[in-house]
Amino acid sequence: MKKTIKMTMVLALVSFFVACKEAPVKEEVVETTIEVPETQPLDNVMTKEQQQKLTPDDVLKDFIDGNNRFHSGNITRRNHSEQIRKSAPGQFPKAVVLSCLDSRVPVEDVFDQGIGDVFVGRVAGNFINVDLLGSMEFACKVAGAKLVMVMGHQDCGAIKGAIDGVELGNITEMLTKIKPAVAKSQDFGGAKLSSNPEFVKHVCRNNVSIALNQIRTQSPILKEMEDKGEIKIVGIFYRITDGTLEFVE
Ligand SMILES: [Zn+2]
Repeated sequence: MKKTIKMTMVLALVSFFVACKEAPVKEEVVETTIEVPETQPLDNVMTKEQQQKLTPDDVLKDFIDGNNRFHSGNITRRNHSEQIRKSAPGQFPKAVVLSCLDSRVPVEDVFDQGIGDVFVGRVAGNFINVDLLGSMEFACKVAGAKLVMVMGHQDCGAIKGAIDGVELGNITEMLTKIKPAVAKSQDFGGAKLSSNPEFVKHVCRNNVSIALNQIRTQSPILKEMEDKGEIKIVGIFYRITDGTLEFVE
């Protein structure tokens, strides 16, 4: 399929007549047609062979490149109906991402990934529990994913709730999983309030660090895979204001 762009080129022809004092300027309008090939929407999905060839560093680079496409408005066009059909027989994802519940953090979009590319676990406050650890172990040890990513984000309501000590229904117990990050953040220099975006960010980053540590200490399977270089485990702070990333140790 080709897209036709009509371009109007204005060609100014200036003719000087040395002999004539008042040099006339002639302007000519030339219309031309340029054929620009339109890129085909991506209709392939990850195969086992492609997954096995990837290194953890390849996957991380792929995700960083995807995020650059995302926040610069250059996201990949995909043929979803074709990808649904091709992915149905089996999945060979590149990564597993633990994200917050927040509607402003659409994980696949943030990394410009498609159907069959990534396992996503979500819970408000992106904390670790045994179910999410089991899910990550399945993603990597059983299904071959090469990257484990924990992604917190700017302006996280769960982090703010934990800072404020919100008590409401099951939210009360859920927030106890984030309280250790609040406790770890008491060294913060400024106002330790949920209304202070810098403090909320500080707690969020600590919350991601705690999750990374829990993965390594509570999952011998993932720790061994990391030590052998079979997977990479990384932390991310996602900025909802511009769609960019910061790494968290
Ligand atoms: Zn959140």
